[in-house]
Amino acid sequence: MERSKSQWLFSEAQKYIPGGVNSPVRAYKGVGGEPLFIKQGKGSKIFDVDGNSFIDYVLSWGPLILGHAHPEVLRSVRETIEAGMSFGAPTELELELAKMVVEAVPSVEMVRMVSSGTEAVMSAIRLARGFTGRDKIVKFEGCYHGHSDSLLIKAGSGVLTLGIPGTPGVTRGTAQDTILLPYNNLEAVKEVFEKHSEEIAAVIVEPVAGNMGVVLPKPGFLEGLRELTSKYGSVLIFDEVITGFRVSYGGAQELFGVQPDLTTLGKVLGGGMPVGAFGGKKEIMEKIAPTGPVYQAGTLSGNPVAMAAGIATLKVLQKPGFYSTIEEKAKRLREGLTSILRELDLGYTINSCGSMMCLFFTEEEVIDFRSASTSKTELYSKYFWKMMEQGVYLAPSQFEAAFLSIAHTTEDIDFTLEAAERSLREVKIGIKS
Ligand SMILES: *Cc1c(COP(=O)(O)O)cnc(C)c1O
Repeated sequence: MERSKSQWLFSEAQKYIPGGVNSPVRAYKGVGGEPLFIKQGKGSKIFDVDGNSFIDYVLSWGPLILGHAHPEVLRSVRETIEAGMSFGAPTELELELAKMVVEAVPSVEMVRMVSSGTEAVMSAIRLARGFTGRDKIVKFEGCYHGHSDSLLIKAGSGVLTLGIPGTPGVTRGTAQDTILLPYNNLEAVKEVFEKHSEEIAAVIVEPVAGNMGVVLPKPGFLEGLRELTSKYGSVLIFDEVITGFRVSYGGAQELFGVQPDLTTLGKVLGGGMPVGAFGGKKEIMEKIAPTGPVYQAGTLSGNPVAMAAGIATLKVLQKPGFYSTIEEKAKRLREGLTSILRELDLGYTINSCGSMMCLFFTEEEVIDFRSASTSKTELYSKYFWKMMEQGVYLAPSQFEAAFLSIAHTTEDIDFTLEAAERSLREVKIGIKS
């Protein structure tokens, strides 16, 4: 077979970039094979360098809730960029986006912008430690909080797919300060607090986990975390880098009615540009430099072009009916998939929250990392490639969410369902033989 342009570019890229990619999940290790090189995106679709088009459910791993190249986002970015790209001095756009975040996210009174989700979480952890004078943090198995040292322990999709247990390069000392517990297990959190009450600076959680597939918090889990952290004077951090502006305008904290002390944001907030943010109670946020002693900084933080993309995105999200419309689309997809899977009698579990969802190839209820791991990843790989052949682009790993955008049409979803029916039928035949 003739080599495609993607294949050629990938072999070239591997000479100059480790693994040919600038982020490991892009390398398709979770499904085998080689990645496509993308040339263009428009609405719900992406186009590769070989001229193939796909309905996109990756959406840059979550940010593009409006779809690719949304006209209002493009307009705002273009206008802003004409006036210069970065100043390293305050601009009005930073203030505007900060106000929008404070108005949107229930627990956030003050916010600081950074350039990635990783940076947001890393800074929030430092702040929680500085604020409490404590060292240890509690995180949950399968939750990903970016790639800073103390958080790369059983950290979901990327690490999961690559099969790296934690990672070399993180010191034992750092790892010792991270306490790892199963998601949705409040008893375990209680026990840890009883043992280490005076040592735990923060509990960090994805209020809806989106990095081991999609896993919802059991009723009472988030409320329980709130109670325990308050009781023991520990900082509760919701990592809403995925869920912020995704599961509702105010994030998971609005949806579930639980208020953390600190919140981290990213992805949708930047509308496709590199943006992260962390925010929370004024009392805690004022501990950051220059008002407080906890240092945190960034040359490109609050970059005007990135702020413009975020502001334009949020303005569209504020339009009445945005979330009910996107959730209708998600419902159509979920219900369609469910009926196909039932008919085929394939063992499955679908977890979803708003416009993010995950099809697991397991009959077990998926409530944590252990149950997510019972999914038959070889079936997902097969499904992934069959969908790709038919023009549907899913995440190249079982342990990722599928995201919808407002640009996905009913026709897109019905097309996807027809492709899914054919793909899943073949997956089923593969199991029998
Ligand atoms: C993506 C993600 C991060 C990291 O964000 P980056 O912008 O990739 O650094 C952190 N937390 C969660 C929950 C994420 O999904």
